[in-house]
Amino acid sequence: MSSSVALRLPSIDGLLRHPACAPLAERYGRDSLLTGLRQLLDELRPGVLSGQLAAVEIGPEVLAGRVGERLAQQQRSQVRRVFNLTGTVLHTNLGRALLPEEAIEAVQMAARYPLNLEFDLASGKRGDRDDLIEGLIRELTGAEAVTVVNNNAAAVLLTLNSLGARKEGIISRGELIEIGGAFRIPDIMARAGVRLHEVGTTNRTHARDYQAAIGPRSGLIMRVHASNYSIEGFTARVPTAELAELAHAHGLPLLEDLGSGSLLDLTRWGLPAEPTVRQALLDGADIVTFSGDKLLGGPQAGLIVGRRELIAKIKKNPLKRALRVDKLTLAALEAVLGLYRDPDRLVERLPSLRLLTRPQAEIHAQAVRLQPLLADVLGEVWQVSAVEALGMIGSGSQPVARLPSAALCCRPQVSKRWRGRYLLNLEAALRGLPIPVLGRIGDDALWLDLRQLDDEPGWLAQLAQLQVDR
Ligand SMILES: *Cc1c(COP(=O)(O)O)cnc(C)c1O
Repeated sequence: MSSSVALRLPSIDGLLRHPACAPLAERYGRDSLLTGLRQLLDELRPGVLSGQLAAVEIGPEVLAGRVGERLAQQQRSQVRRVFNLTGTVLHTNLGRALLPEEAIEAVQMAARYPLNLEFDLASGKRGDRDDLIEGLIRELTGAEAVTVVNNNAAAVLLTLNSLGARKEGIISRGELIEIGGAFRIPDIMARAGVRLHEVGTTNRTHARDYQAAIGPRSGLIMRVHASNYSIEGFTARVPTAELAELAHAHGLPLLEDLGSGSLLDLTRWGLPAEPTVRQALLDGADIVTFSGDKLLGGPQAGLIVGRRELIAKIKKNPLKRALRVDKLTLAALEAVLGLYRDPDRLVERLPSLRLLTRPQAEIHAQAVRLQPLLADVLGEVWQVSAVEALGMIGSGSQPVARLPSAALCCRPQVSKRWRGRYLLNLEAALRGLPIPVLGRIGDDALWLDLRQLDDEPGWLAQLAQLQVDR
């Protein structure tokens, strides 16, 4: 009911002068405060006119409080740190590899100061940004030359366009893959101006299939590492060395898109075998492309390595300019590559490798330690247990291989009918924490895989704030 004396909103000027608003002006600036107050008053005006709002709801302190909350919300960065307890280590949606300290320092330096990005300090002349890492790449992979672009998708696009435009690209039907986020080999080929010439079948492709496809229109042979699926059973695939021989006999380059492209044999750390860049080159691939932020453990980048004259051709393509990497990426990449010079200490220094190789026993001990604390916060409705779990590398590396890990498994002790809702509520509550905690739901439970829980104190510190809706 509206009262006989019409309620009036405070004036903007009055609010700006009010002591409750002074700290807001100080903190967020007068302009932001003014905009916030105007918006709020505009929203409240109809309620005041219709008499639905009471005087206490539009007092200066109340309004200042509401504007303060909004300004704080707006000021909070949209780029947020999270806890990745999904069990997938190189999670594309969560930023893939974490950089080592050495790379973080290099990024800071590159961000803060001018640097010799394209300047040759020895001669005083203009330089080439790829030169900054060429020495390391040659040393670590045996390649003659390198060029770096924004990501591996860009590397594949640029290589195909540079070496195969208006010609045919020969590729096995078993390698026409799609990678998350709409990267499909046939589409990339088309955009690169290369005509797809598919050979063989999904499960079996022989040397004679490639042989029969080679003709005057052929521009290149491509091989793609089937990174996110595996073909098992009755299969056949031509070894890279044999394919290279065939390509070279006809004067064609062989491209190999390795995807993850490991620089070292990962089996020395007990990880599943991944083809190395050096081996692909030794086998005769002329160009090898791979990501910087997958198993390499560095920043997002696409590396194109291989024969010098082909790299020179790729670098002359005008698209290179559109796809090139920035100084922060190069600084980080150089630092990460530098760590590979000392493989014995790589596990301690490269976070992705350290996390990938964390022993299950250690993760399980952590789960046992944290179990009572989480159980206490969640209360009786939830059964929390420390269990063994299986994670994965992620980013298309070894899609079928599993990493033995351990997790906190949270099961709602309610009838089947309500379980889904409870799980979604818990998931949302964890996501709503100051540093969102991301797990995974499966088998009527919410799983927090602890392989990547480095910052245990930080995780524990916010646990008390967890409030799960029923
Ligand atoms: C991941 C992957 C790509 C795409 O690499 P990005 O760095 O994500 O652009 C291309 N090819 C293969 C085989 C891959 O595994």
